[in-house]
Amino acid sequence: MREIAGRTAFITGGANGIGLGLARALLAEGAKVAIADIRQDSLDAALKTLGSEQVIGLKLDVSSREEFAAAADEAEDRLGPVSLLFNNAGVNLFQTIDESTYDDWDWVLGVNLNGVINGVQTFLPRMKDRGKGGHVVNTGSMAAFLVSPSPGIYTCAKFAVRALSESLRYSLTSHGIGVSLLCPGLVKSNIHASDAIRPQNLEDRGKPVDEAFNAQLAKVHEAGMEPDEVAAKTIEAVRANKFYIFTHPEFKDELKEIFNEILDDF
Ligand code: ADP
Repeated sequence: MREIAGRTAFITGGANGIGLGLARALLAEGAKVAIADIRQDSLDAALKTLGSEQVIGLKLDVSSREEFAAAADEAEDRLGPVSLLFNNAGVNLFQTIDESTYDDWDWVLGVNLNGVINGVQTFLPRMKDRGKGGHVVNTGSMAAFLVSPSPGIYTCAKFAVRALSESLRYSLTSHGIGVSLLCPGLVKSNIHASDAIRPQNLEDRGKPVDEAFNAQLAKVHEAGMEPDEVAAKTIEAVRANKFYIFTHPEFKDELKEIFNEILDDF
């Protein structure tokens, strides 16, 4: 079993939802934690709720390489070498591929996919140089397996995060660095309200935040799993060095069906 106490964790999207749940769980295990998030208001609130000397908040847009490297430097200066990386920041856009614009692609892939790539590019060389192992958890989704018309770009991003993670899993074994892919289903989080943090260029394009639709989505998400429960399962999997982290057993039959269908097509 892998030790968590005394290690330094870096969590993107750590100010809300699953990321905040992870921060709470890691602190309880005795880790030091840097939560990195694009929202300063959420960071302030999160630090207050966490109420620990062992946590720092860093303002970061994960889609920016430069910002990522600067945040990593600051985290390591203040908390010591990061050996647990959680590439967790995410946004969602509930629209079909045919309705999506280049700006939509840039935003959703920028956060959900490039954000993971930036995390990996920033921290893996450091972990490898130190030669002391490490663990990377990428937040995927059941949307990395199940396709629905909306959210289209999100699904593409999560399929790519799955591929990236599966590939890394093999290439990092020889370095003693573990990889996990977290695949939650519905979670009681704010991801349905991603519209609120759309970058300026998307707002300017005139697509208003759809309050009614968001209210409906909020209801659906309310029925989801508690972020703390997702976090507990994730920490357990990191300890056991497990690759897939499936938190929602209700998808088991659906997944079996998909793979059977694929096999039938051969
Ligand atoms: P979930 O926990 O289900 O993934 P949330 O919306 O509650 O959904 O959490 C996602 C977190 O990711 C939020 O705190 C949000 O501010 C953060 N986030 C979104 N975009 C970025 C970004 N570009 N860089 C860093 N953090 C981001």
